[in-house]
Amino acid sequence: MEKGTLYLVATPIGNLEDITFRALKVLQEVDIVLAEDTRKTLKLLNHFEISKKLISFYRHNEGVKIDYVLSLLNDGKNLAVVSDAGTPGISDPGEDLVKACIENEINIVPIPGSVAFIQGLICSGFDTTRFVFEGFLPMNKRGRKEKLLSLKDETRTIIFYEAPHKLRYTLDDLKEYFGGERRIVLARELTKIHEEFLRFSIDEAINYYETNDIKGEFVILVEGKKISSEKIISEESIESLMKKYLNSGLDKKDAMKQVAKDKGITKSEVYKKLLK
Ligand code: SAM
Repeated sequence: MEKGTLYLVATPIGNLEDITFRALKVLQEVDIVLAEDTRKTLKLLNHFEISKKLISFYRHNEGVKIDYVLSLLNDGKNLAVVSDAGTPGISDPGEDLVKACIENEINIVPIPGSVAFIQGLICSGFDTTRFVFEGFLPMNKRGRKEKLLSLKDETRTIIFYEAPHKLRYTLDDLKEYFGGERRIVLARELTKIHEEFLRFSIDEAINYYETNDIKGEFVILVEGKKISSEKIISEESIESLMKKYLNSGLDKKDAMKQVAKDKGITKSEVYKKLLK
C-alpha cells in the first residue's frame, strides 16, 4: 500500500485573510488534521467551511502520538499538521514528527504561510541578510544566562519570541547582557488590528513599560552588535591591510605608512613584521 503524505500547513498569525489557497485546498483534501489546539483549529476550519476529523497533537503529547500518526501514514492516510498560529515546527510542534517521517521514508510537504518572526524582521529596519532566530529563551535563570552570554557579541540581528507576561523580565535580562543602549524592535500584534513596531533602545523600552501595559503578542528583535571600524582594523592582519592598500592603488611606501597608522606602530615595525 502506498504511504500517505504529511503536510505541514502554515495558518494565519492573526489575520484570517493570510490563509493561502493551497493551505485551504490541502486542509480540504487530507484525511485528518493534527491540531495543536483542536478548538482553535475547529474555529479556523469552520470559518472556511471545512469539515474534517481532528486529532489533538501538541508539544506534550507529540512524543506519545508519533507511533499512532506513523501508523496512519503507513496505512495510506494523508495528514496535515497545523499549529495554533503560523508555521508548524517553528516554536511549535512538528519537528519530532518530521524526523520520524524521514526515518520512516514518509513524504513531507511544506505548505508555506506566515511565520511571526519573519514579518517582524522585514519591518525591523535591522540587517535582514544575516540573522539568528532563537525562539523562546530558556525558562530557568541559568539557561537564560548561558544563552544571553553566548549572544552578547552576536553581530547578526537576534530574534526572540516571548510571552507578554514575561516581556518585562526579558527586557531586564537583555539590558544586563546587551547593555541598555542596544536598539531593539518590539513587533506587536503582527497582522492584527493593533499591529505596531515599537523602536527603542532597551532602556527606553523598560521606561516605556513602567507606564504602559504590556498587551498582545510580541516578537523581540535585537540589533546585532556593531563592531567599530577601529576594532576591525585592529583585528585585521598587517598582511591583509597591506594587500588592501596596495590593491586600492597606493604604492608600497604609502601603503606601509597607512598600515603603520592603522595599527599604531612605526613603519619599520610594519616592515619587520612583513619580512617575517
Ligand atoms: N509557529 C509560530 C510562527 O510560525 O511564528 C510561532 C508560535 S510560538 C508558540 C508563539 C509566539 O510567536 C508568541 O509568543 C510570539 O512571540 C510570536 N507570535 C505569534 N503570533 C504573533 C503575532 N501576531 N504578533 C507578534 N508575535 C507573534
